[in-house]
Amino acid sequence: MKQILFSLTDAELQKFITDLGEPKFRAAQIRDWLLRGAPDFMSMKNIPLALREKLEAVAQTLPVKIVKKLVSADGETTKFLLELNDSEQIECVLMRTTYGNSVCVSSQAGCAMGCKFCASTLLGLKRNLTTDEIFSEILVAQWELRNTTDDKQIKPNGDPNNNDVSHIVVMGTGEPLQNTENVIGFLERANHDLNISWRRITVSTCGIVPGIYDLIKWGRPINLAISLHAPDDNLRSTVMPINNKYKIADVLKAADDFTNLHNRQLMIEYILLGKKDENGETILYNCTPEYAEDLSKLLHGKNCMVNLIPWNTVDERDFASPSGNAVHRFQDILIKNGIHCRIRRERGTDIGSACGQLRLNNKKD
Ligand code: SAH
Repeated sequence: MKQILFSLTDAELQKFITDLGEPKFRAAQIRDWLLRGAPDFMSMKNIPLALREKLEAVAQTLPVKIVKKLVSADGETTKFLLELNDSEQIECVLMRTTYGNSVCVSSQAGCAMGCKFCASTLLGLKRNLTTDEIFSEILVAQWELRNTTDDKQIKPNGDPNNNDVSHIVVMGTGEPLQNTENVIGFLERANHDLNISWRRITVSTCGIVPGIYDLIKWGRPINLAISLHAPDDNLRSTVMPINNKYKIADVLKAADDFTNLHNRQLMIEYILLGKKDENGETILYNCTPEYAEDLSKLLHGKNCMVNLIPWNTVDERDFASPSGNAVHRFQDILIKNGIHCRIRRERGTDIGSACGQLRLNNKKD
């Protein structure tokens, strides 16, 4: 197997380079390229061609390789299917927005949580990702931004030249708080090496209570998002098996402890799910007007923002997307009750950007 240079310490990288009969300073040059996300050695323009060829034969830059890259028609969303060294595949998504360049990263290959609406968990959990692997997802996106963004593409407000990753959301495949140590290791590096501020980082969880307390112990002022998807335990347990272990009240208590500590607004994710009846009509599942009232009561007085996410179709799953009217009615009730909420803009639906779809479909091919 080829040596992955990104995973070597600086001293190890130096030894690797001098063992090839090359001068030490090349190691620093190569490290610089690795931190820019160079996918191969041929991209390393200040390294002599002979050394690049030598390295290409014996080494690999990052612990991930791009298998597929899909760009949405509007050019704002780029989705990557990446292969790890043991052939597992993961996804990450780069979103160019008006507030910055945001990357949604996976924390696990597959997922063990079993949520009934989600594609990521259909093939079960394969394994946790390492810190290096998660970090590489950001570097792949960073390379893409620096090397393919043209002037026509959307740029963050006030900074027309910014082609750097500015925001991270740990909302891809996997449950980050089942891989907390590596996720924290990754975020520490993203903050340290890429200068991404804590306040531009969001970790999303299905509600692993001890994991939320691990984040509290860690102490960094990141944003926390809770995938709630139901206002009561009975309903929630029908779509999220984890609710049998950690009840809504305990999850929200832990989330409050987190956000109070850092004085942050809590993000609540709420997928809007429908079902097809025997006539093929869509009936509302968790987004009836009554549930909107229940959700308002549950969240009353909390410093939170509810992200309403119309369900992205997953063929294998027995749900349907509610109509636009139903989505707006649900939102209107929350607003009337004084709950901050917005409907999440769908990005990249033309490239199968719903969680885990690309990976799943590639396995089926
Ligand atoms: N395990 C973490 C992070 C990954 S899921 C969590 O549960 O938060 C990221 C978000 O996407 C979650 O809110 C999840 O419920 C949602 N999601 C999963 N499948 C979806 C689908 N098909 N359509 C819309 N949102 C989906």
